[in-house]
Amino acid sequence: MDSPGEDGKAGEDHVTWCPSGEAHRPESVVLGVRSGDDGQVVYLAEPVPAAQVLPSIPEGIAPHRVLRFASHCVSGCANRVGDACGLIERIQTLPSPDATGAVPRCHLRPHCKWWTQAGVDACHRCPAITTLNSPGDQLAVLVADPSTTTEQLQNWIAAAE
Ligand code: SF4
Repeated sequence: MDSPGEDGKAGEDHVTWCPSGEAHRPESVVLGVRSGDDGQVVYLAEPVPAAQVLPSIPEGIAPHRVLRFASHCVSGCANRVGDACGLIERIQTLPSPDATGAVPRCHLRPHCKWWTQAGVDACHRCPAITTLNSPGDQLAVLVADPSTTTEQLQNWIAAAE
């Protein structure tokens, strides 16, 4: 992770990364593998360039279905709200997961936008986040939609209870 950041400064300290990133950007790395019945992410100990892994994914399987990727946090992202990430803000609107356990060991943490913005709470929620959502999962689709407000999410959750 030593590419220059958006601000053009060299060195990894100046690069902020999205933990729900793109698979096909030049800097993209594999963050973790989705596993088990619930597809929770198991994080890699070290980043692996996505370009090394993508050719081994069978045709017809969307890469995000089996892997989570990290790529640079960019100012043009639809989820940006000023300098903040609106996606993790929406995710934090959802009921809290069990937050008593340790946070995952994760190679991205020193550069992670969600960690920088939301700290331990983001890390407790992170393994359950899918970058590719099933159209049948209405709540997940709402959370992923940059136009959804946190108030709309709160109303949806309240109506579902
Ligand atoms: S939110 Fe936490 S667990 Fe997820 S990628 Fe960022 S540092 Fe890692």
